Amino acid sequence: MEDKNFLEEIIEEGLAANAGRPDAPYQSILTRFPPEPNGYLHIGHAKSICLNFGLAKKYGGATNLRFDDTNPVKEDTEYVESIQQDIRWLGFQWKDIHYASDYFDQLYEWAKELISRGLAYVDDQTQEEIRMNRGTVTEAGKNSPYRDRTPEENLDLFERMKNGEFADGSKVLRAKIDMAHPNMQFRDPIMYRILHADHHRTGTKWCIYPMYDYAHGQSDSIERITHSICTLEFDIHRPLYDWFIEQLGIFPSHQYEFARLNINYTVMSKRKLLQLVKEHYVSGWDDPRMPTICGFRRRGYTPESIRNFCEDIGVAKRDNIIDFVRLENSLRDHLNKVAPRRMAVLNPVKLVIDNYPEGETEFLDAVNNPENAADGCRRVPFGRELFIEREDFMEEAPKKYFRLTLGREVRLRYAYFVTAQRVEKDSEGNITCIHCTYDPATRGGDAPDGRKVKGTLHWVSAAHAIDAEVRMFDRLFATEAPDEAPEGKSFLDNLNPDSLRVLEGCKLEPSLKEACNTVNADGIEEPQRFQFERMGYFCTDRDSTPGHPVFNRSCSLKDSWAKINA
Ligand code: ATP
Ligand code: MG
Repeated sequence: MEDKNFLEEIIEEGLAANAGRPDAPYQSILTRFPPEPNGYLHIGHAKSICLNFGLAKKYGGATNLRFDDTNPVKEDTEYVESIQQDIRWLGFQWKDIHYASDYFDQLYEWAKELISRGLAYVDDQTQEEIRMNRGTVTEAGKNSPYRDRTPEENLDLFERMKNGEFADGSKVLRAKIDMAHPNMQFRDPIMYRILHADHHRTGTKWCIYPMYDYAHGQSDSIERITHSICTLEFDIHRPLYDWFIEQLGIFPSHQYEFARLNINYTVMSKRKLLQLVKEHYVSGWDDPRMPTICGFRRRGYTPESIRNFCEDIGVAKRDNIIDFVRLENSLRDHLNKVAPRRMAVLNPVKLVIDNYPEGETEFLDAVNNPENAADGCRRVPFGRELFIEREDFMEEAPKKYFRLTLGREVRLRYAYFVTAQRVEKDSEGNITCIHCTYDPATRGGDAPDGRKVKGTLHWVSAAHAIDAEVRMFDRLFATEAPDEAPEGKSFLDNLNPDSLRVLEGCKLEPSLKEACNTVNADGIEEPQRFQFERMGYFCTDRDSTPGHPVFNRSCSLKDSWAKINA
């Protein structure tokens, strides 16, 4: 039997209960993803997207994209566009696209209806007074002195609020429920506030804006959303969500809560991400170290790796923290299947094969992807002068060192066995060149006499190598819970000072010459992804220019953090 999560159970129960009943509120489900366009989407949003779109898909329903744009001050069309791009890139397609601001007229009419029925009033108390008079969890609140205004007076004042007669903060519209209610949300919640601000869509038409609690449920209801899925912190809002819908007698949307995604070593609040961008701690929203979807895209993450991760961690009803390693492992799993293998030397040192004919080049077959035979082979040039990784040679090596050392034989991948003979050094004692000999009989990487070598090194032909810049990323934050900072410090104090290391003069095999970002069918720019053998997964960066390719490291081949922290 398939293991169902609690949302799937709720959906199946609802569908079963409604089946064959023409009067039932719905026969197929409609979910929505409701981002506020005040920043770029992050991996937490990806979880919500996978859930909302995934459930709808599973049950033959659909998902709306709704911009929750009821707060004009922080919102921007740049964000509206990036959000659509990121959802499409993740592989999802919405049914309809809506803006909460499209409902401002309807919401206003409904507010007047509630006023007429004595269920809402205009309050002149200051913000401070409203807060003071709200009471506490153990103490009832105090009624506002304006609470008993007549519906006529309230209608008149509300219209004048809308017409711009009053200053910001001088009045609010509140639902008239119960100032002693045990659920604080019911103590006459604010429905509208005055805000003389330009809205990214409605311009200056409105100077009153609905609050989340009044706007969200009604927007769901207008769209006939059947399952309004949100994060746990909204569970205390649910009774109020239901109250407005019941009072107005409109489509019965229902809210369900799940645990938000938290990942260690990561901050996920848009406010903090915006601060990182604005104050130049990162290069932008798509800095490859950012937990944004565009950051992951630039880092080389695939949509599949993010979707698989979201599927894998499941849906919880209680808050927890997911290890970042699980996200990286999901990327490794996918790239292992699809990323072409290439050879690249990141910290090069010259290797000269003294007994190899001078001026000769041969082309050797190299497997593109051992996980996928259909990817075939490419031909890699080989010559007398090569580059290998500096770390792959030690003059005096311990017993367990299986790479190159004087007098020891190793394999050059796809090529030959070589034995190191001597080194050249500069005046400071740094090795500038390693001289070796090769065994021509080992062409292709195996000895006809069956002798074995312990090490296999990657290499690049010096005459054919392409120079590249490679950006090595580490965690953006050095601490597991960067949001937690001691008194007087902020999350910024938890930044990892070594999260970016730029390597210049890396040597790539010539087949990478044409590698560059591509534009997918949706018009979204994506990197090309590779495995650099033995070094990790890498992808092209949009900063590349024809003379200066730039690659990003997406992740290492294995999780090195597990070892360091063990
Ligand atoms: P932030 O605090 O980062 O600004 P938000 O919740 O205010 O996030 P919204 O744009 O309002 O951002 O979120 C859109 C949707 O994404 C909401 O339904 C919200 O519940 C969901 N969401 C946001 N963050 C997470 C998360 N970490 N895990 C799961 N869902 C999330
Ligand atoms: Mg929000």
